[in-house]
Parts: sequence; structure tokens; C-alpha cells
Amino acid sequence: MSKHDVVVVGGGISGLTFAFEAARAGRSVLVLERAGGPGGCISTRRTGCGYWFEVGAHTCYNSYVGFTGLIDACGLRDDVTQRAKTHLRFLDGDRLVPGSNLGVMLRLFGWFEAAVSLPRMIGAKKDGKTVEEFYSSIVGKRNYATVLGPMLSAVPSQSADAFPAGMLFKMRDTRRKDYPRSFTLRGGLQTVTDALARQPGVEVASGRTAVRLAANGAGWVVVTDDGERHEAGVVAVATPPSAAAAFLGGAAPDLAAQISRVKDTVVETLAFAVRASKVNLPVSMFLVPRKDVFHSAVTRDSVPDPDWRSFAFHFKPGLEPEHRVARVTRLLGLQRTDLEDLVEKRTILPSPGRGHEVIVGEIDRLSAGNRLCVLGNWFAGLSIEDCVERSRKEWARVATAG
Ligand SMILES: Cc1cc2nc3c(=O)[nH]c(=O)nc-3n(C[C@H](O)[C@H](O)[C@H](O)COP(=O)(O)OP(=O)(O)OC[C@H]3O[C@@H](n4cnc5c(N)ncnc54)[C@H](O)[C@@H]3O)c2cc1C
Repeated sequence: MSKHDVVVVGGGISGLTFAFEAARAGRSVLVLERAGGPGGCISTRRTGCGYWFEVGAHTCYNSYVGFTGLIDACGLRDDVTQRAKTHLRFLDGDRLVPGSNLGVMLRLFGWFEAAVSLPRMIGAKKDGKTVEEFYSSIVGKRNYATVLGPMLSAVPSQSADAFPAGMLFKMRDTRRKDYPRSFTLRGGLQTVTDALARQPGVEVASGRTAVRLAANGAGWVVVTDDGERHEAGVVAVATPPSAAAAFLGGAAPDLAAQISRVKDTVVETLAFAVRASKVNLPVSMFLVPRKDVFHSAVTRDSVPDPDWRSFAFHFKPGLEPEHRVARVTRLLGLQRTDLEDLVEKRTILPSPGRGHEVIVGEIDRLSAGNRLCVLGNWFAGLSIEDCVERSRKEWARVATAG
């Protein structure tokens, strides 16, 4: 049995931000994390020779005001470094389509359809529309299906067609002028989650799955898979929706029912380093396959290295591991033995759909007045900054409630 002021379930950036804010306010915090260490989708692989690459998230922007605030508070400002510019490229089978960024998209578009559709962009509103509805109306249905749709699905590593249009490419009003426009950290983004996990007042218990929540007077008891009971006045759940719904089902069935309306999906990532001399592909690419077994691939050249290159391929679920390796080696013209420090990671990602705002409204209504918080990358958006904003807002809500 453990006793803390706050128990957080899930040690990704959402859970760690909440933990950090609670600890900064003087509360004792326990973070329960199912995996072998904290970080979640922020996952940096550090190799034996001092090279590192990202398996998950790779880029932050100076519009991430909340996240940069955490970097400052952890004393990591000097580790921030400009990341190399990324080039959007398309793949047709094994062939890299010539051209990059907007130029290649415009070349791939059917022009008659684009010319008819593009004027609809003026005054087009995202409200209530799915990604497919909104963007097809602007570029035309065929251009969406063959060019823009694959690109938009590459961003969240899953089909983005049914996503609420407002959740992708959010414009933020404020930018930190003292930060590079797009940046990472020396040592990778996990430097930040590692630092948050080390903050005074924050205790992280890894390899612990929270299985059940029960009411305990004015507070809560969290039960983990090893049968341990963890008491707290405030509980924050920062896991993918399916895990949150399962965990909350007994103690907060109405909340769990709303959360279970948010679907999630699996992305299988294969990431590895390769000796730079073995690869001819241009550096710093965001690869969008027009039709393939993977949603996207990113060359991890955020901070170029003379000796090493690295890649992360985000595969659709259902493929055997050896088929993923075979697809990658064929595409890159490599042997299996060329792939060094290979990481296979299975990530559960939310798949918000039509009516998502209504579900979020219901979750907030049911949580109001409650010392139970639901966090994650499935409220206003999927980015790191969206997670930080949600966690800070929820901490402010329960902190002021006493
Ligand atoms: C491949 C990829 C690339 C991305 N690139 C970027 C990018 O460049 N920039 C950007 O801003 N965003 C990016 N994102 C999005 C962003 O990284 C994520 O949305 C964000 O990190 C999610 O954080 P989270 O804490 O909400 O969830 P997660 O990171 O998913 O953390 C949830 C944690 O909960 C744990 N957990 C689950 N169930 C339980 C349980 N029952 N008990 C205990 N623990 C549990 C999990 O193990 C996990 O560690 C990317 C995402 C992915 C997958």
C-alpha cells in the first residue's frame, strides 16, 4: 500500500506534465507506467557510440509555449538545438517521386480538379467537418485520395480521413522568439521526459499497469497488476482511451462509457540506425507512401551526423515483423545486417472521429467537481503541446478545488 497526494496513470508527456505541476505545487506524486520506463510516444534510442535517434516524436516548434516552459523549468534550455529542415517526399512503390514539399504536391495534383475546387478554400470552415470532407472540398476528391489524404494520414500514422478537421494543423497565436522555430534537444526529446520524471516530489514506478480504480472516502485507490494498492486524493489518467475506459469502468462507469466512444488504433514502428555510407537517400525526409504497408517514414536526421543515418517506419498493424524488415531493406537497398540498434515499438494511438468535441464536452462535464482527471493526446489535438495544455488545464482545475 502506498499513499501520495496524487497518483498519475501513464508516464507519457501528458502524465509527466501533470505530475510535474502537482509536485511543483508541493504535492507528493506517484506515476504508474506500464512500460519499462517513462516517455510513451517520446522515445529516444541512444546507441553505444553516442549517436541517438527518435523512435516516436521528433519535432517541436517555438509555438509550443507550454512545452518550452517545461524545458526552461527543468533547466534544459541550453540543450535545445535547431533541428534540420524536413523535406516532404512522396514514394510510389520503391521510387522516390522527384521534387519536395508543396512543389511535389502541386505536380501530383490533377489540375482540372484542383482549379475547380481550390476557390472553395476561400471562407471554408473546418467546424463539424472531418479531415476528408474538409480537404476534399478544397482540392477535389481524387486529389485528396491520391495525394493530400496519404500526406495527412502520414502525420498521425493512421488514416486521418475521419478525424475532426480542426485537430490537424492547428495555428497557435504565440511563438517563443528565443527558441528556434523547430527544435529538438541534444540527446533527443526524451531528455525532457527523463528530466520531468526526475523532478523532486515525483516518483515513477515503471513496469506497473494500473488495472482498477476504486473510491476511498474523499479520495481514490488505484490497484496495479501486482495487486498493490495506491491511495491518493487526486488521480489523473493519462493513457490511450481504451486503457482509460477499462481502468475507470468500476469507479466511474459514466465517464468510462464516454471515453470508450473514442476509438484507438495500433501503429507498429520499426526504427534503426545505418552507417551513413550505406544510404543514398537525401537527409531529413518525411516520406509519404501513396499506397503501401506503412503510413509514413521519417529519416531521423534532426541533428545530422557524419557517420550515422537513422529511420523510423510507421507500419499499419497486422504485418509480421520479418515482413516489416523485408519491406524496409528492399526499399533502402540494405541487408538485414545493415540495420543496427533496431527498435520495434507498438504504440496505441487515439483515432478521434466525427462528434469528438461532444464526447470531450461530456468527459469534462462528468469530471467537473471531481478529483479525477482524464488527460492525453485525444482532447484538442495530438501534438506534444496539446498534451501539455490539457494536463496543465486539468491540474489547475483540481488544484483550485483544494
Ligand atoms: C510516431 C509518432 C511521431 C510523433 N511525432 C510528433 C512530433 O514530431 N511532434 C509532436 O508534437 N507530436 C508528435 N507525436 C504526438 C505526440 O508524441 C503524442 O501525442 C504524445 O507524446 C502523447 O503523449 P501522452 O502522454 O498523451 O500519451 P503516450 O505517450 O501514449 O503515454 C501514455 C502512457 O500510458 C502508459 N499506459 C497505458 N496504459 C497504462 C496502464 N493501464 N497503466 C499504466 N500505464 C499505462 C503507456 O505505456 C504510455 O507510456 C508523435 C506521435 C507518434 C506516435
